[in-house]
Amino acid sequence: MRIDILTVVPELLSSPLNESILKRAQESGHAEIYVHNLRDYTDDKRRTVDDYPFGGEAGMVMKIEPVYRCIEKLKSERQYDEIIFTSPDGIQYNQREANRLSLMNNIIILCGHYKGIDYRIREHLITREISIGDYVLTGGELAACVIADSVVRIIPGAIGDEASALTDCFQDNLLAPPVYTRPSEFNGWKVPDVLLSGNFAEIEKWQEEQAYERTKTLRPDLL
Ligand code: SAH
Repeated sequence: MRIDILTVVPELLSSPLNESILKRAQESGHAEIYVHNLRDYTDDKRRTVDDYPFGGEAGMVMKIEPVYRCIEKLKSERQYDEIIFTSPDGIQYNQREANRLSLMNNIIILCGHYKGIDYRIREHLITREISIGDYVLTGGELAACVIADSVVRIIPGAIGDEASALTDCFQDNLLAPPVYTRPSEFNGWKVPDVLLSGNFAEIEKWQEEQAYERTKTLRPDLL
């Protein structure tokens, strides 16, 4: 899968996209992630990507031309399944949307900044608007990292231990059961006996019960 991220602050993206699973997924060829600096698509000396809003409100607005040029160039090179804009008024992001995106071949994620983006971009070029929650970020870069991370980690083969992604929270509308590791006792705090029993049928049953109980208590809306 290929993800193209368009931004005016590329520095915000480099570390989250180049460590841990995302790094390995790119090294193993499961994912290609490209960051495009919208300033490279300007044509003035000062590489201007923002301008004052019509109507005289406070704050700056991202200009159309650099975004248009960058998206058109990418679209001339390959077909995109989705052109996403990160926005607090978009559909609320969740695991189901991550699963859906992970099946795509090519997506673009456009990060807004400043007061937002000239609305004509959203009207004419964007196919999906995604919010990562009901709060306002400084820019879409962190949201793009959230989307890229959650999508890439579930591409088949991207995680070494594939089963691991499938037992995460939300994959079956249940929260994950508790996990423990050695030592089996610390400070008098013990790991549940069943996990040390070696009886895998019992362990699985316990995990299912725990997942159900935790969901019922913490997130009854999921059931
Ligand atoms: N004035 C805008 C907010 C601008 S914040 C408004 O009130 O809607 C600047 C940029 O950060 C936005 O254009 C968007 O790309 C990004 N952003 C902010 N909050 C976000 C959220 N919850 N989810 C996704 N992107 C967000």
